[in-house]
Amino acid sequence: MAGQKMLTFTAIGRDMPEKRPPNLRKADFDEIYAQYAAEKAEEQASRCSQCGVPYCQTHCPLHNNIPDWLRLTAEGRLQEAYEISQATNTFPEICGRICPQDRLCEGNCVIEQSGHGTVTIGSVEKYITDTAFEEGWVKPIRPHAERGESVGIIGAGPGGLAAADMLRRQGVQVTVYDRYDRGGGLLTYGIPGFKLEKDVVMKRMDQLADGGVQFVLNCNVGEDLSFDAIRGKHDAILIATGVYKTRDLPNSDADGIVNAIDYLTASNRKSFGDDVPEFDSGELNADGKRVVVIGGGDTAMDCVRTAVRQGAESVKCLYRRDRANMPGSQREVQNAEEEGVEFVWLSAPKGFAGDPSVTDVSDPGAFTGSVRGVVVDKMRLGAPDATGRQTPELIDGADYVEDANLVIKALGFEPEDLPALWGVEGLEVTRWGTIKADFGTGATSLEGVYAAGDIVRGASLVVWAIRDGRDAATAILDYLGQAADVAAE
Ligand code: FAD
Ligand code: SF4
Ligand code: SF4
Repeated sequence: MAGQKMLTFTAIGRDMPEKRPPNLRKADFDEIYAQYAAEKAEEQASRCSQCGVPYCQTHCPLHNNIPDWLRLTAEGRLQEAYEISQATNTFPEICGRICPQDRLCEGNCVIEQSGHGTVTIGSVEKYITDTAFEEGWVKPIRPHAERGESVGIIGAGPGGLAAADMLRRQGVQVTVYDRYDRGGGLLTYGIPGFKLEKDVVMKRMDQLADGGVQFVLNCNVGEDLSFDAIRGKHDAILIATGVYKTRDLPNSDADGIVNAIDYLTASNRKSFGDDVPEFDSGELNADGKRVVVIGGGDTAMDCVRTAVRQGAESVKCLYRRDRANMPGSQREVQNAEEEGVEFVWLSAPKGFAGDPSVTDVSDPGAFTGSVRGVVVDKMRLGAPDATGRQTPELIDGADYVEDANLVIKALGFEPEDLPALWGVEGLEVTRWGTIKADFGTGATSLEGVYAAGDIVRGASLVVWAIRDGRDAATAILDYLGQAADVAAE
């Protein structure tokens, strides 16, 4: 059906790629959406009305040229679609899978606003790049000429990798340092395989290594190697270390109460076939357990759905506001519900109940041993705050114990205190602890030192990390050029 005409949205409905039935997808960690067949991708791309002012593009952090690659896909000109798509996005197949499109490109598609259902932009983006890999259109990184300058990148997450890719394509010598044994950051160890299969990420790692990017893994900067030592080795530095300090609850260190990132990392490591003693001992394994996850963001959604797949007896998610006011993607909530997760809205943790002694919910947390439940305060939504969001208010005397023998805290992340951890003087941070950096270039208060991704924005999105990494790489190329000019004078 090559050569589809456009603007077919009044005749053709929105159709996502097929979703595997819950009973099948619960049995493994594979992605839940199938790939479009070529005809389906063409048909869905043809629904685009080719807006003169494409709001989808404006609301994509990378300003992807969405209407053009949709038109080329509809016309069956897939290789050209791929060329345009990859010109603005380093990892389109990853964004197509895990961007919260309902809040970004698709949420601003005009045909959605006219009641016809958004163009399935993310699924088409994924289809284009997956096909490009299959067809061998994804070019290896082969710089036209090698340059003498070198850049050290701390952090192999999407921010660091996007910068590494751009710099290396320009012939710069790039070394990426990461404390983990694999690159990819949260793409590898945070986000579960049912949203993003690991071979998708590893394929990009291989491409970067094959293109000459040097990886120094198992290297915790600040412990194994000092920041100053790295700075001394390179002409410029990019800090892209993400945010990993877990927001915590008081009295929450009993057995059976764990942090989301530890839980998800263990599960992802198992998917790689690694030896994970904390999983094998049961500490970070939900099999046969009554699981309660605390939090309403994307991390909480990943935890509940992981627990289902590990064979939990029951999985509940506690969130202090209601469904309409939760930060996590509605699409993920629906996926979780289909998989058997129960959401307990308007519920906040007051403390924890434990075995054997404490049953008094007015004194939560005062126990040793293993957790037996979460003491829950019931809430109602009160007046909107300054941001317009309704504030949860306590309902007196309505607390109760939610039965659980594995409690996962998914309350968000904060930056570590990098200047103190690394002993770096003059690296300025904001009052939230994120690195103070220019939003357009990533330039920090130290000369030749740039920063990108979550360590600048706070916990954010993959697509923003890619954008920051690309912006920082452009600025670093500029800086290296200027530095070379000065040296030549
Ligand atoms: P990271 O991906 O965190 O990478 C930072 C890297 O730096 C890590 O590899 C770390 O090991 C390394 N590092 C840190 N400190 C040091 C050090 N001292 N020395 C050496 N290396 C160091 N976003 C989406 O868009 N869609 C989603 O569906 C989504 N789901 C998510 C699910 C979970 C569970 C979590 C936690 C986040 C999710 N996000 C999602 C957010 C997204 O993953 C992040 O915004 C993004 O990964 C940030 O990229 P980054 O490169 O800044 O940092
Ligand atoms: Fe949409 Fe994300 Fe792709 Fe941009 S990168 S077009 S926001 S899916
Ligand atoms: Fe096409 Fe929707 Fe973007 Fe308009 S807003 S160009 S219809 S995808």
